[in-house]
Amino acid sequence: MIIKKRTIPIRILKNGALLRRMPKNHKVRAKIEEDLARRWAGYRGEAALDFHLSKLPENEYMIFHGIRLTNGKYFFQIDTLILSAKFAIILEVKNFSGTLFFDPQFNQMIQTTLNGEERGYPHPIEQANLQAEELKKWLSKRGINLPVEFFIVISKPSTILRTPPRNSQINQKIIHSQYLISKIDKVSMSYKEKQLDIKALKKVSKIILKEHTPESLDILKFYKISMDEILTGVLCPVCIAKPMERRDGNWLCKACRLLSSNAHFKTVADLFLLNNGVPISNKQFREFLHLSSPHISRRILVSLNLPQTGTGKGRRYLPPPNYQDIADLDIQLY
Ligand SMILES: [Zn+2]
Repeated sequence: MIIKKRTIPIRILKNGALLRRMPKNHKVRAKIEEDLARRWAGYRGEAALDFHLSKLPENEYMIFHGIRLTNGKYFFQIDTLILSAKFAIILEVKNFSGTLFFDPQFNQMIQTTLNGEERGYPHPIEQANLQAEELKKWLSKRGINLPVEFFIVISKPSTILRTPPRNSQINQKIIHSQYLISKIDKVSMSYKEKQLDIKALKKVSKIILKEHTPESLDILKFYKISMDEILTGVLCPVCIAKPMERRDGNWLCKACRLLSSNAHFKTVADLFLLNNGVPISNKQFREFLHLSSPHISRRILVSLNLPQTGTGKGRRYLPPPNYQDIADLDIQLY
């Protein structure tokens, strides 16, 4: 059963909002585009796993996607966590193409890309081991003693995996996604005893969801871009270039003549993605959407059903619980 479904990571949404609204010739633009492309590839690799995971028996396994927890100082992020009454499994998904060579001597992974270029990375088993240790610690602090296993899942079937002979840990732990289910079955057979009853399992699931902390990053600060450089206004979903104008309750694009009743949804999402979710006033909203009337601005704000705090002049509007719920984010644009 999927307990926490996979959603597009907020960092991807933030990068997209920034690219839509930053000057075309900005010097960090290429860097952000590159980062975004890498994150999309990673996300697609993870999403490709869903087909295999759907074959797991619903009533035996709880699946959590994109979990971020902490034991105090640092956060540890788990691509996919599978919980059962007998054990937990961490899946770390790698979306590399070409050939991967796992070097146990230098604890390194070397990728030879499709055009013959060599690139070195930290050994993924080391990384996953640390995550497993963190999760074990996190669980035991909450009185749960569950064995934690992990697999590095290579999402592309065409990726060639290589390692020196007698390096058996590699083929036990690093697998192509099509073998994932049989691996999980094997793990399940190796653990005979149930550690948790169904009530305890549900309780763990609740705690995980409660303590999951989404990444919070001020994307403008991160790339050293000031809010003054950001293009404001409701962007036309077709030509994304110029801000649209409010006309009789609709948004009009003067360039392509598109008339839209809800083009502002994405603008609201952009505003919160770029200000790192800080609650906004009616005035800030009005200015960002280029609205002349505070009344119209308030009416639109109310229609969005955003969570609110304060009253009168102190009233602030909070970001939606899930950005993808309020806006068709038109993710194809970036
Ligand atoms: Zn347009």
